[in-house]
Amino acid sequence: MNSQQLTAAALEAGRKLFAQECRFVIGAAKEAQLPTPGQPEIGFAGRSNVGKSSLLNALAGRKSLARVSGTPGATRQLNFFDLGGRAYLVDLPGYGFARAGKQDIAEWNSLIRAYLRGRASLRRLCLLIDARRGVGEPDRKIRALLDEAAQSYQLVLTKTDKLPEKAVAEVVETLQRETAGRGACHPEVLATSAETGAGIPELRAVLAAVVSGG
Ligand code: GDP
Repeated sequence: MNSQQLTAAALEAGRKLFAQECRFVIGAAKEAQLPTPGQPEIGFAGRSNVGKSSLLNALAGRKSLARVSGTPGATRQLNFFDLGGRAYLVDLPGYGFARAGKQDIAEWNSLIRAYLRGRASLRRLCLLIDARRGVGEPDRKIRALLDEAAQSYQLVLTKTDKLPEKAVAEVVETLQRETAGRGACHPEVLATSAETGAGIPELRAVLAAVVSGG
């Protein structure tokens, strides 16, 4: 489904899903701590500072959801949030931070690989891309991982309020062209801003359809 063609009913389904209570369930630092697969999962990944916490908060209509888990080390964990007993939102640790040591990168890789390997309940991973920065080297690495795992994912632009509308449309078009033919990547790139709320109802609607198996 193209977000331009979303019906009022689809937008309403998205609003309803994300109006439900969203609560932190568990932070998994190791494969063994991952919850037993059950309800559908929607993952969120991106470079540190891409605006992931802000986007999660905007989706859930909260001010500090993504920081509820603000215990030391939480940023190295996969944080699971239960959305009204219907889905888990899974906040993956940010990657590509400038001062990350080899050990950090190795740990990140092994946890993420463990999670992505055959996690049937992970219905879609939103790969967040800063609209001004575009797809960088660390993003390409995770895309390779997702393609290899045949994990369904979708590019979601963040901070689009920092660019003129025309420039955002160009980034969307370029990425959609580049994405065509990559099997696991959803063809539509969604443009969002946690700051203005642009694209948030559309992203909610797309994710509601994913959760309900659409
Ligand atoms: P995270 O590290 O990916 O979780 O990123 P954060 O959500 O903490 O955001 C990083 C920085 O970007 C913060 O200073 C936010 O205020 C800013 N930011 C996040 N989303 C937006 C947005 O939609 N628009 C603008 N202008 N700034 C944003």
